[in-house]
Amino acid sequence: MKLDALTLFASMFINLTLIVGALLLGVGWKTRSGMRLWNMALVLQAIAWACLVAAYRGWPRELATLGSAAMVAGFSFMYMAAKTYLREPISLAWVIGVPVVTAVLHWLMFHDFVARILIVNAAIGLQMLWLAWLLLRPGSQGSWRWRWLAGLALLASGAMVACRAVLVVVAPESYPRFESPHWVNIVGLIVSNACVMAGTLAFLLAYRDEAEQELKRLATTDGLTGVLNRRHWMESAVTHFNLARRHGRGLVVLMLDIDFFKRINDSRGHQAGDRALVLFAEALRHVVRQPDLVGRYGGEEFCVLLPMSDVAAAQAVDQRLRAALVRDMNPKLGFDVTFSAGVASLDDDHTTLDELIARADQALYAAKQAGRNRLVAADLPDIKER
Ligand code: GH3
Ligand code: MG
Ligand code: MG
Repeated sequence: MKLDALTLFASMFINLTLIVGALLLGVGWKTRSGMRLWNMALVLQAIAWACLVAAYRGWPRELATLGSAAMVAGFSFMYMAAKTYLREPISLAWVIGVPVVTAVLHWLMFHDFVARILIVNAAIGLQMLWLAWLLLRPGSQGSWRWRWLAGLALLASGAMVACRAVLVVVAPESYPRFESPHWVNIVGLIVSNACVMAGTLAFLLAYRDEAEQELKRLATTDGLTGVLNRRHWMESAVTHFNLARRHGRGLVVLMLDIDFFKRINDSRGHQAGDRALVLFAEALRHVVRQPDLVGRYGGEEFCVLLPMSDVAAAQAVDQRLRAALVRDMNPKLGFDVTFSAGVASLDDDHTTLDELIARADQALYAAKQAGRNRLVAADLPDIKER
């Protein structure tokens, strides 16, 4: 099989342009994920290949520098796309620094063939290998499927580019000219093409994973407050309940309801009511511990399940929440919010979670009847906390 380098350049440009178009059609530009960054990386690479082909066909040397800068900047965008999906902070010094330094050095050293080739290959190789390491290193966030696909593609092309950098230094006479059909160029172009395909596929997988996670989040949490929605809280609570029953462990359910919430809405408006709900849920999330489940049971009523805990633990949560309201939330809101709470604990008499919740709810009702702003424990109506 005979492959011509310039045909491969052209196919690289055509492939990139087609993928960019397909991604714009399929995913759109206004996506909030790293996909836009990946697509931007491909746009820059398409520009780079076009510039390089034009430059080597005798167009001004500025095009060669511009093409190299676009290529390196493309990898900066790939780095940002990867960091977005890995949920890691982006180093702007890296993103901006590598393309700028490469472009400046390329321009200054243009007369020196070895230095020029070394600068571009070293910059691209460094970017690819660093990116491959970020994706492949153990403990990174995100599913291994897309990370490995993109990471291995980048590792292969990074190694290839690094070899080119070494080759031009140790044996500049055998380094093929850019457009010659030398096997080093042909292999390089085939690997680059495959890397673009595998990388795009990998980032589409990451994009799908992100969409799946987002759907899951939307399906399991309450849109206003961010705590679990009632259905998901119930599903998770059943699992804890069954485990607690089987292993004879303690478990308590705490129901909380904001006092006179309707008045807040009526006198201060719905938005003030919403803000109170958001701050209340935030405070509640902060005062519980790791395995505790916080949910919005409905309206201004919240529920907490405390696995392996007793009434005393629920009382402690209740007290911490009351203190947090007085200390943080009420000053932020500009008016006072109190709540009533009811707690019920798992014991042998109660066979279902629904029964346990019903008892906590009755205790909450008793707290309301007793004057609000307090905690009442089911079966122990004398326990009241202010
Ligand atoms: P109590 O002390 O007896 O609990 O009285 P309350 O006014 O808090 O209880 P009530 O059940 O009479 O009113 C609850 C109000 O909560 C009525 C409803 O409009 C309001 N509400 C429910 N969901 C939301 C919401 O998402 N945002 C806002 N702003 N209000 C809500
Ligand atoms: Mg209420
Ligand atoms: Mg209520």
